[in-house]
Amino acid sequence: MKRSTRIRSVTAGGPDGWGVYRRARRMAEAGEPVIELTIGEHDERTDPSILAAMNASALGGHTGYAAGEGTPELRRTIAERITARTGVATSAHEVLVTAGGQAALFAALHAVTDPGETVAYIDPYYVTYPGTIRGASAVPRVIPTRAEDGFMPSAEALSEGLTGARALIVNSPNNPTGAVYPRRTLEQIGAAATSADAWILSDEVYDTQVWEGAHISPRALPGLAERTLMIGSLSKSHAMTGSRVGWVCGPAETIADIANLATHTTYGIPGFIQDAALFALRAGPELERRISAPFERRRHIVAKQLAEQTLVRTLPMAGAMYVMLDIRATGLSGLEFAEALLDAERIAVMPGESFGDCAAGHVRVALTVSDDRLDEAMARLTRFAAGLASAAAE
Ligand code: PMP
Repeated sequence: MKRSTRIRSVTAGGPDGWGVYRRARRMAEAGEPVIELTIGEHDERTDPSILAAMNASALGGHTGYAAGEGTPELRRTIAERITARTGVATSAHEVLVTAGGQAALFAALHAVTDPGETVAYIDPYYVTYPGTIRGASAVPRVIPTRAEDGFMPSAEALSEGLTGARALIVNSPNNPTGAVYPRRTLEQIGAAATSADAWILSDEVYDTQVWEGAHISPRALPGLAERTLMIGSLSKSHAMTGSRVGWVCGPAETIADIANLATHTTYGIPGFIQDAALFALRAGPELERRISAPFERRRHIVAKQLAEQTLVRTLPMAGAMYVMLDIRATGLSGLEFAEALLDAERIAVMPGESFGDCAAGHVRVALTVSDDRLDEAMARLTRFAAGLASAAAE
């Protein structure tokens, strides 16, 4: 039977960049001692207090259809958090609860693009962006950056990339680069989007993981709230990846449109999950700090290991649960390095090329194993890189 063009286009075909990850998983399942530094998931599980709230809600009967747009208390609490963090007064009607940040992105793209319209995003990028754009029948367009500029987009590249585009996806703190966009970059993004009359889809799922500088939402910049759809999630901030709870925040009429779409897709998020999310958010910034603390600590472990050599380099590691390592001095591509490292050292990292052409010659390390294992993995990784470089020089 025929498959729709849309569904066939979600994946572009060819290698999807997850080959090293899958091979490492198979090796680990076969009992090999692999150190997996691949996916962005906490080594700690969801806090038991959040699970207790979930359990109490379910036992209390919140297991039927829940409000499709989110319970009033949860929408209000998310709006209060956004108000506190951005300084922009935000009401519950400007917030829709979604099945994680991913569903928020999907819904937001459907709400603002027509088939065939262009959506720009910045390379290196989070792996689902192009497929999500194509899933909305829109056309992806990358805006290139350079490692030498800390993977920040230039004003020229933004303006060129946004010409004729309907929307731009922005992700700060950034996966995979760990970059946190300063105000100046966000102002350039705002200027380019305004002049193209494009929407800004601001993916802020790592907003609690900022180690240098400060997280600024485009929603907080003058004149941008009306063209910004902000995407949030409890996956990273509260170690709730499996609960699938996030939100999209923007102008009330667009949120109403997206609520209408939700009626035809998810029909809402389970009530007991929403109650657990409410409990988690009410626990406040203290819990968020506790959950993000290991990543801040571990980036120092990486920095210390890298300081002992000069071959493998990195960016400032300003935010998120990843570091991007520049391994170009070994003469290998990111993919070749990742494959060889897995074979020789049983250490799995993501090839930079999985995140776009601009991350070629890099690998992404997720800081998601214990401090000791990360320390050991980084020592072995840098030794391995040195061995490759000296073999190449002979
Ligand atoms: N955006 C980015 C940049 C991510 O890294 C992720 C998850 N890895 C998501 C969105 C989706 O997160 P979730 O759907 O779990 O909220």
